[in-house]
Amino acid sequence: MAKILDGKKLALEIQQRLKSEIDQGLIKAGRAPGLAVIRVGNDPASGVYVSNKTRACEKIGVKSFSIQLDEKSSTEEIISKITDLNDDLRIDGILVQLPLPSHINSSKILKSILPTKDADGLHAYNLGSLLKGEPGPRSCTPAGIMALLASSNIELDGTRAVVVGRSILVGKPMGLMLQAANSTVTVAHSHTKDLSKLTNEADVLVVAAGKPQMIGKEHVSENTVVIDVGIHRIPQEKALVNGSLYSLCGDVRTEEVFSKARAITPVPGGVGPMTVSMLLVNTVFRWQDHCGLPFTLADLLP
Ligand code: NDP
Repeated sequence: MAKILDGKKLALEIQQRLKSEIDQGLIKAGRAPGLAVIRVGNDPASGVYVSNKTRACEKIGVKSFSIQLDEKSSTEEIISKITDLNDDLRIDGILVQLPLPSHINSSKILKSILPTKDADGLHAYNLGSLLKGEPGPRSCTPAGIMALLASSNIELDGTRAVVVGRSILVGKPMGLMLQAANSTVTVAHSHTKDLSKLTNEADVLVVAAGKPQMIGKEHVSENTVVIDVGIHRIPQEKALVNGSLYSLCGDVRTEEVFSKARAITPVPGGVGPMTVSMLLVNTVFRWQDHCGLPFTLADLLP
């Protein structure tokens, strides 16, 4: 039976730690950390993600600024809003909820955020810092996975890791972070041949393909730690996970892999909550920087 890697529990512990960092720094800083979240249009899933993030902010003492822009906003209009937020001294982090409507140039939007206010760690400058091994805000999902592995005492040095997916959001930064931890990394994608042969050799398998339940027991060995990044809403009667019915599933057939692998993240309650916590880590990290406070979160920024 696999060990369950409980992201929900660790995410709450990290939020407690952030709350205490904020309480301690508040007087010297003279203000709370501020996070601006920009949502364009009315996509309901994005609405849920944004409200999760603003709720998490409130819980730990980060002031959230929600900016709702019209679906038809132009790239220039969004950039103009971001420019205002770049100049706003109350704001330490800016997040644009993705995906953006198809007429928007997402790359231009992400580049217009000041690298020092990049809460998502997706600005080209900050991705470059990750590549060079220099400090900076980190992409939230892979950084959350690194924290979860560390807190579960999963040693990475000398291991073989396979990351399925090569997106800028997850797969590519994940590969870099694992490599920086001295794992030997292979990044697979939709053109990769004989995926199961590759994944069977993995000590750590991170699956971020966005394909519901594509990874099963034939892809893993008894030694594999499986990190399931995927998140999909599926009709309840089809989502049999650990004997229970869920309306969410990941990229992994959890029940099957659970009975074989060394460890696994559940969906929900694995990677998702960690992503939100790492957004807060990036914001508090920047607040400490902007307000001349000591950096205390280096262990959470791989
Ligand atoms: P993308 O669609 O941007 O990338 C998917 C990647 O998977 C691509 O590189 C693609 O390859 C690869 N891929 C697709 N099919 C296969 C296949 N059959 N075999 C091997 N590789 C394949 O997705 P994201 O990285 O943005 O997200 C991945 C998943 O993670 C989604 O389900 C998303 O909802 C979820 N997610 C969850 C988060 C959380 O907090 N839990 C946060 C972010 C994402 P190619 O490049 O060749 O097209």
